[in-house]
Amino acid sequence: MGSKPSGKSVKVLCINCQCMIDAWRDETGLTKSKCPKCGSVTVSRVMSRRHMQLDMYAPKGQQII
Ligand SMILES: [Zn+2]
Repeated sequence: MGSKPSGKSVKVLCINCQCMIDAWRDETGLTKSKCPKCGSVTVSRVMSRRHMQLDMYAPKGQQII
């Protein structure tokens, strides 16, 4: 017992096709999401309250729009 939920659900914007995706942010501030529309994977990391780092990967065989 005593397992508390870690992280929270967040909405992130797919910067590839500009659609909103539901994602899960863990307690370390890392968010991984896969866009259901274009299939790209976005990994974002909260560095501080004013700084967010974002990595975007296009699916295999595709390019970033
Ligand atoms: Zn997308």
